[in-house]
Amino acid sequence: MKKYLKEIGGGFYSLMLGMRVTLAQFFKPTVTVHYPHESLKMTPRFRGHIELVRDPKTGQAMCFACKVCEKACPSDCIIVEGVKKEGEKRKSVTEFKLDFTKCSLCGSCVEACKSNAIQFSKAYNMVSMNKEDFIMNLFQKLESERSADGQATATPPPEQPKSEVP
Ligand code: SF4
Ligand code: SF4
Repeated sequence: MKKYLKEIGGGFYSLMLGMRVTLAQFFKPTVTVHYPHESLKMTPRFRGHIELVRDPKTGQAMCFACKVCEKACPSDCIIVEGVKKEGEKRKSVTEFKLDFTKCSLCGSCVEACKSNAIQFSKAYNMVSMNKEDFIMNLFQKLESERSADGQATATPPPEQPKSEVP
């Protein structure tokens, strides 16, 4: 009988210990979110796929297709094309392809671009069964976003020979 009561006492004690931890956590701020209905705000240094930066004045891509980032990428995942419009000193980007399947998020391209025309996005919620979904046309993406914002998109460039991401 004594042994039986001792076991009950031990069980009750461990239950109280467990409840103490539960109660302590119950009154602390919530650190989890109801994914996928809610998502976390990414930290400033989070590296999602690269994206083109817009000129705050014009809303257009700051990239002028110098191809420095293309050369700096160790994985050959960037292809940039551009045209020099009449009366303009620099080229305007017309195509910026990223093969994200090969990107290691090393940051060489972002560092190489001295005009700060590319940055890491905060996109982390990416999933697909199709590899093609990760081959992105970042210029087209930027233009679609501009169009959605009600801004005039860039004048369509002259027909360019199609280049494929190697
Ligand atoms: S993103 Fe920067 S480095 Fe790359 S092509 Fe554009 S301007 Fe040049
Ligand atoms: S982060 Fe690195 S691997 Fe990815 S595109 Fe830029 S240079 Fe290439």
